[in-house]
Amino acid sequence: MISAAPRHLRQPYDVVVVGAGPAGMAAAIGAKEGGADGVLIIDREREAGGILPQCIHAGFGLHHFKEELTGPEYAQRFLGQLLTHDIEVLTDAYVLDINPEQQLKVMSPHFGVTILDSRAVVLAMGARERTRGAIRIPGQRPAGVMTAGFAQKLVNIGGYLPGKRVAILGSGDIGLIMARRLVLEGAEVVGVFEIMPHANGLNRNIVQCLHDFGTPLYLSTTVAFVHGFSRVEKVTVAPVDAHFNVLADQGWDVPCDTLLLSIGLIPENELSRRLRLRLDPVTGGPVVSSTMETSRDGVFACGNVVHIHDLADFVSQESFLAGRSAGAYASGYKSLSDNIRLIPGENVRYCVPHTIASEREHTVYLRVTRPMQACNLRLGTVYQRPLRYAFPGEMVTIKVKPSFLERFHGEALKIDIWPRQGDEP
Ligand SMILES: Cc1cc2nc3c(=O)[nH]c(=O)nc-3n(C[C@H](O)[C@H](O)[C@H](O)COP(=O)(O)OP(=O)(O)OC[C@H]3O[C@@H](n4cnc5c(N)ncnc54)[C@H](O)[C@@H]3O)c2cc1C
Repeated sequence: MISAAPRHLRQPYDVVVVGAGPAGMAAAIGAKEGGADGVLIIDREREAGGILPQCIHAGFGLHHFKEELTGPEYAQRFLGQLLTHDIEVLTDAYVLDINPEQQLKVMSPHFGVTILDSRAVVLAMGARERTRGAIRIPGQRPAGVMTAGFAQKLVNIGGYLPGKRVAILGSGDIGLIMARRLVLEGAEVVGVFEIMPHANGLNRNIVQCLHDFGTPLYLSTTVAFVHGFSRVEKVTVAPVDAHFNVLADQGWDVPCDTLLLSIGLIPENELSRRLRLRLDPVTGGPVVSSTMETSRDGVFACGNVVHIHDLADFVSQESFLAGRSAGAYASGYKSLSDNIRLIPGENVRYCVPHTIASEREHTVYLRVTRPMQACNLRLGTVYQRPLRYAFPGEMVTIKVKPSFLERFHGEALKIDIWPRQGDEP
């Protein structure tokens, strides 16, 4: 891992990347390959890698490297490429602000408070976890309630066990991964409680992290009350009805000393808001074009800051594109403007990018609103593809070719997914 600072800072850089997670690292490499000369990545952590160093489980790299790697191994491969591409890395440094002239205000122990000029900027700040306050869980305020990602950092980086008898609220991937990790470290996981009627994590994580270890998953169930004075003593869990009303009279108490929360991630968009970028209310991230450019010229975005990804491999793929586009922009190359707007239709919660160009091939990422077996995906009125299943927890990826897109030049293209037995939308 790298804990780093360049000897001096250039003025200006061609591309500055904010965040050195998988998105930022791939974007920086992409920027070099896109023609940029001076490329700098800035991260507030002591080491580059983003969330990857604490993800010591395997499951990374299957798409990108065609082999199964742990998070630190996946990060290490990219860090090696940063060195070979002569990319400058500044860690322990916080980007406080970016102004419309693409000047970044950076605070670091090496350089103090510094203003950096850059021809293009890539936003790759990732996401943060939702906390207890975000969903207002009733009850007392004892120690022992924490997010699953924080518990992961305690166990995998710090070497501390956060508790001995653990309940998990939410079936997001981090909670599932932590259910397995805590069992392996000797704790008892009393159950994963999910308010939705379906699990929210990847199917492979449900199988490998819960089923394989005999950890029960309770669907349509939530934590209705947290009990305990100085430390969590128990939680009351209860089923919910179809409108998510808690059925308190059917609740039961679960003794535990820790409650982990795996209730979703929020894209980290304070800088995007300061730049007054157009944000998508569904993803919580910036609206982006097919080159991952935001609503402001020369500002690109990628990774979890745009929409929450389940696989780091997809983050890397999307971020290479953002970086290459930023590199090309900084070198004075202007790409073709987009001429097709993508519209999420039936059962589609969102799609990214928000616009595409009819002259190029594109990868479009989308999520469905509800789980479906045997369904059809339709683009406009023409293209139809069968899908074996679609779950909200698993991103759907489609490639669209110019031969198909040319007929939609200047139009909006709607994307629908519906069960094969159901009525067509
Ligand atoms: C617990 C967990 C388990 C996962 N397991 C898997 C798995 O098994 N397989 C898989 O493929 N994927 C997995 N993922 C998903 C994958 O790791 C994420 O999708 C990916 O890390 C997102 O990359 P990112 O670069 O957008 O964000 P991050 O990795 O979060 O990186 C963002 C970086 O930006 C920095 N930053 C933010 N704001 C600023 C600022 N103002 N100034 C300076 N720096 C800033 C942060 O410090 C951070 O280092 C997992 C994710 C989590 C959380």
